[in-house]
Amino acid sequence: MTDAMPAKRIGFIGLGHMGMPMVARLVAAGHEVHGFDLSAEARERAAAVGASVADELAGAIAEVELVILMLPDSNAVAAVTGDPAFREAIRTGTTVIDMGSSQPERTRVLAADFATRGVRLVDAPVSGGVAGAERGSLAIMVGGAPEDVDRVTPVLSVMGRVVRAGPSGAGHAVKALNNLLSATHLWVTSEAIVAGERFGLDPATMLDIFNGSSGRSGSTENKWPNFILPGTFASGFGLRLMVKDIRIAVELAAAAGAPAHIGEEVVKAWVRAADDLPPEADHTEVARWIAADAGPADA
Ligand code: NAD
Repeated sequence: MTDAMPAKRIGFIGLGHMGMPMVARLVAAGHEVHGFDLSAEARERAAAVGASVADELAGAIAEVELVILMLPDSNAVAAVTGDPAFREAIRTGTTVIDMGSSQPERTRVLAADFATRGVRLVDAPVSGGVAGAERGSLAIMVGGAPEDVDRVTPVLSVMGRVVRAGPSGAGHAVKALNNLLSATHLWVTSEAIVAGERFGLDPATMLDIFNGSSGRSGSTENKWPNFILPGTFASGFGLRLMVKDIRIAVELAAAAGAPAHIGEEVVKAWVRAADDLPPEADHTEVARWIAADAGPADA
């Protein structure tokens, strides 16, 4: 721990695919992390990397100066922050960082509610997946008052690279838009590879060529070669979480009066796959689903 970053007492709620490796990095950086998750299994995993875990929400946030939320969505954020135990335990002067991919409008409402009680809210959703969380190389898109962002930047920097998106809700807005791009890329890349394969092309060769050409994206550089071609489908990012994010993006566009013609089609396509696949399916499973949905190749 350097003088520039004194150890902090951090409450960390949500110890899932992303929360767990993020907690591990905070602990390794010398912070005192008090974790809570509804799942006992998740709590055990966090304890194994050195977090002190509580059996109840209040135990993880008593007397902390910073609370980090890494929860599935805004409903879970509302469940935690609306819990009487949370409202009683949270002290004036505490900063709460919502690092999950939540709904920007709900984030703004929550920030205003917190402000009446002297609690600050920063939204800091991430991109980079479980691998990025493990390596501390996440892209962290931050929304909030500049002085609040300044205060939490040293802690966030343990987990990745901080980019200021704008005021409260801006981080959550740009994260949803980012995932609309990502979901669109993954879908159309998968369609292109199915088409190429049926033409007789080799998927690995196609990816190599796309990655040296203008068709490259996170899907061609990371998702296809690392999770789809090897057949593991184990990126750690659930398909249903992706559907949640792209819905947020098209709702944002609708509320802003902006066109989202392709975006709406992308949502419909992903919803169809989600309806078919098991609830715990990884989002990279769409590639396999698209190939199966296409049916047999014409003779
Ligand atoms: P996850 O489902 O693996 O983990 C969420 C955890 O929150 C679970 O362990 C669950 O038990 C816990 N939880 C839910 N409600 C709770 C409550 N009321 N109180 C306490 N704990 C509760 O999800 P994840 O993949 O870690 O994603 C977390 C967030 O990060 C989501 O918003 C997701 O969209 C976003 N995200 C995920 C990835 C990824 O690659 N997995 C990448 C970028 C962003």
